[in-house]
Amino acid sequence: MKTFQDFDLPKSLQKALDELGFVHPTPIQEKSHSVILSGRDMMGIAQTGTGKTFAYLIPILKQWKFQDNEAPRVLILVPTRELVVQVVEEVEKLTQFMSVRTLGIYGGVNINTQRKSLAEGVDVLVGTPGRVMDLALDNVLRFDNLQKLVIDEFDEILNLGFRVQLTSILSMMKSKRQNILFSATMTEDVDEILDEYFDFPEEVSLAPSGTPLEQITQKLYTAPNFLTKLNIIKHLLATDETMERVLFFVNNKRIVEVAFDALEEDFPSQFGVIHSNKTQNYRLQSMASFQSGELRGLITTDVMARGLDISNITHVFNLQFPEIPEQYIHRIGRTGRADKEGVALSFIAPYEDERLLAVEELMNMEIPILDIPEGVEIAEKRLEFEKDKKRFKTVGKKINLEEKGPSFHEKKEKNKKVNLGGPGKTKPRKTAPRNRAVEAKRAAKRKKKK
Ligand code: AMP
Repeated sequence: MKTFQDFDLPKSLQKALDELGFVHPTPIQEKSHSVILSGRDMMGIAQTGTGKTFAYLIPILKQWKFQDNEAPRVLILVPTRELVVQVVEEVEKLTQFMSVRTLGIYGGVNINTQRKSLAEGVDVLVGTPGRVMDLALDNVLRFDNLQKLVIDEFDEILNLGFRVQLTSILSMMKSKRQNILFSATMTEDVDEILDEYFDFPEEVSLAPSGTPLEQITQKLYTAPNFLTKLNIIKHLLATDETMERVLFFVNNKRIVEVAFDALEEDFPSQFGVIHSNKTQNYRLQSMASFQSGELRGLITTDVMARGLDISNITHVFNLQFPEIPEQYIHRIGRTGRADKEGVALSFIAPYEDERLLAVEELMNMEIPILDIPEGVEIAEKRLEFEKDKKRFKTVGKKINLEEKGPSFHEKKEKNKKVNLGGPGKTKPRKTAPRNRAVEAKRAAKRKKKK
């Protein structure tokens, strides 16, 4: 097991850790350390209690050099005043043998006192977005010297409605800096801001522990596009009566509507939706109808599902594969609860293969692939959103499958027995090559790992 000695920290910092009695870095501290030291932007997925505060403070302070400046070099944005106080305390603990000036600022208290403290010079500033924005607009707080921006509890900052404050702070920052972001979960809102203001930060996350995957049967269908996915789903819903209480996941609210319209055609009034554009009242109504069994299924997004407490889900359907591997585990964990067997079915289009491989790596297993049932129409068309390449970037590490080159895939191909979707000489279904493509990518990845 690693110790902080392995981090090769300056004496003053090591001594502070010794005083705190901290010997071993936590997993998020270990994983973030080299990324932050490298100077790259980082997106860490970690909850409170994982040691995330020290995960960013230690590498930042490791590189600390004395500089004579008034304006802060490090800005740490957090959602609440309690957290400001807490983070300031953590910085002070770590810097007790260093000369670092730390200040916490937040709303609800006299702004003039904070103005004065800022004017006296600050190295590490911790604050809530509202107060930071006010002082920056006042020109009391300047970002000219800023080298590191930390956004802690990113999702919570947005949940609390600080989006405007956050984006206006970001637009006021001109200088080049390192961005270090932490969020408990990847939400659509976080993703949107990442897209707009940050340049592909490296993702660092922890595998959630103790998820009882054994109780969940996982399967997947490959499909060339979203419309084919919907065709398969309609077929399943029409033929499989065990699909009694189904939770459908898609990646954003727009697609919730697309999926809903499709299901509504064939199964009028059997399905409902929950997403952030609906009123609270509507969402509660949908939930109640689902709970009572009036609705057979709900279509939702990760963000919305977070707050839902629904039981006895027989099936989780991933109509779109989540961008963050851990999110897959959260999703399928909705079924198979409390001694009940659950089924998780995923539908994978070609642009989602890499996400699938990332999840399989996380779980250390391969999800069995099913053949598309006879009679399901294979659609040719891709919907507009499927053409939008940018939305399908995988946040985090890219798995490079191209390296092995085509010859490797081809060779592997020949040796492989594949179910072409029917016995004997029947015409192979058009989708069989999709299954083979996924298998080939898996094989390439296995080989690379060795
Ligand atoms: P956080 O997730 O940052 O809120 O940290 C949770 C708690 O763990 C805080 O009280 C930290 O002081 C403590 N902590 C952080 N790093 C370590 C470590 N390496 N060993 C033991 N405790 C730690």
